[in-house]
Order: sequence, then C-alpha cells, then structure tokens
Amino acid sequence: MGIFTHEGHRNLRAAEQNVSQGIASLYSSICGICATLLEPSGRCPGCGRTFSPPPLNLAIMTDSQRAAAIRDGLVPAGTEGLSQNEVRTVQFYARLRRQRAEREQAATPKPKVESRESSLAERAKKFIRPDGSIIEMSLP
Ligand SMILES: [Zn+2]
Repeated sequence: MGIFTHEGHRNLRAAEQNVSQGIASLYSSICGICATLLEPSGRCPGCGRTFSPPPLNLAIMTDSQRAAAIRDGLVPAGTEGLSQNEVRTVQFYARLRRQRAEREQAATPKPKVESRESSLAERAKKFIRPDGSIIEMSLP
C-alpha cells in the first residue's frame, strides 16, 4: 500500500511536469495573430505567416506527428527521446535532402542561360528579315 502511494505521488509529479511543459510548448506553438496552432514548420495554417518553428516535444507528439516532423527534417538526429530506428530515419531523410539539393544545384544554372539566349535570339529575329536586312520599327 505504501509503495503504491509513493508510486502514485511520483506519477502525479511526472504528470504535472508533462502538463506544464505541454502548456509552454503549446503557447509558443500558436499564431499570435489568429491564435491558430502552428504547423511543425512554424507556418500558420490560418493566415499563412511563418514564425520560428515551435519547440518540438516528442513526448506529447503522436507517432504520425513524430514521423511527419522527422520526414520534414525538423528533428535533429541528436534529439533526446528518439528511438534508434527514428535516428536512422532522420539520417536517411537528411541524406535524401542533401542529394536532392546537390542535384538541383547541378541542374539549375544551364537551362536558365540557354532559355535566356534563345528568347533573345527569338526577339532579334523579329527585327531581321530572312535575307539579313534589318526591319525598321515604325513608330505610331
Ligand atoms: Zn495566423
């Protein structure tokens, strides 16, 4: 009986601590303008403003919220309370994002330059006849 009371008291203390942590993180998870709960990225679904991302409290998140936050790269691999599996998932998505960013960086500059050149050539053609003579613009 005595053991149960002691246990119960400890559980109550732990529960209190969880609740106050929950309230603190809830408070910083709400948009100050429209009082809507922010997305883990810090975006307000109500007004679309982006705030600094709310602190992550893995203990109060559901499995799917945790999975989504990990997928979106909001959880650093060193975060306390992650399972070994979750740490591996964090690292997997970090690597995926890095590779994707590198691919985009490698692919982006060339087509931009080409399209600008071809559009310049297209525009120049309007002022040059097939025989090479220049078409003079008639001003209204
Ligand atoms: Zn808002």
